[in-house]
Amino acid sequence: VSASAASAPVSRVSAIDRRGAERDVPGLLEATRADPSAVVVAVRGDAVPTDRVGALRFLSTHDVPVDAEWGFLGRTADGAPVLVATIREGELPDQTWRSLRLIGADLDPADAEWAVTAVSLARWLGDSGFCSACGAQTRIAQAGWSRHCPSCGRQHFPRTDPAVIVAVTDPAGDRILLGSNAAWEQGRYSCFAGFAEAGESLESAVEREVAEEAGVHVQDPAYQGSQPWPYPRSLMLGFRAVAPDPDEARADGEEIAEVRWFTRAEIAAALDGGGDITLPGPASIAHRLIVQWHGERS
Ligand SMILES: [Zn+2]
Repeated sequence: VSASAASAPVSRVSAIDRRGAERDVPGLLEATRADPSAVVVAVRGDAVPTDRVGALRFLSTHDVPVDAEWGFLGRTADGAPVLVATIREGELPDQTWRSLRLIGADLDPADAEWAVTAVSLARWLGDSGFCSACGAQTRIAQAGWSRHCPSCGRQHFPRTDPAVIVAVTDPAGDRILLGSNAAWEQGRYSCFAGFAEAGESLESAVEREVAEEAGVHVQDPAYQGSQPWPYPRSLMLGFRAVAPDPDEARADGEEIAEVRWFTRAEIAAALDGGGDITLPGPASIAHRLIVQWHGERS
């Protein structure tokens, strides 16, 4: 199973204040919904409202239909509550709804983090109305961050699925191996990516995914950074790994149509917008992994 972070915003250190300890305050959702300073990230499917310049548009609690589900996301730097509200298809038609997948990379870091968190939580709130253990209807707890089953007592939490994304180099570190997905336009290349399976370590997932997609065995996977991306609910974990035998590289022919070793000069040309290949967008973790490798030598 593949994972793609092609247009995901890069996350480093958090730009928002989640106030996790507040979630257990009794009546927090009711109190913050009644707070006139509260702002709302509305989520409809995977879309959020945007303004005329394409920035995230925060709504007021009065804008939101009464039957929405709510979650407490945290507070702004001024202390105003930030809430997520789930909006049904067709509701709030006057807003300019845009998919996070399309705009995520263009949002400023704090708005991107609010939007990614809001879409992640809203999707889980929408999907988890019934207990996966016994089928009973669940009740929201912890200001939207958990659901409790009154029938069997089980607690449910938002899921995050770890996926690895890997920049593979040759032993000297002079070349990087990238792949072109069969579903992409010709000439577009990126790092190799896939979900960690049940019971699998991240290091094993790195070795398995690269072997499956690119035919090479890799050593010494080294963690580089992460990026959450709610499609469907991924946390992309970036790695660097070395392929001792670069000549092994060959595409799997199904998911990956072509694999190719690139020199720094070739990557430099592509980063400058020249050359014959397209690389992942500047806000993606794949781009960051490639640029990081490229910058290590001139
Ligand atoms: Zn249950």
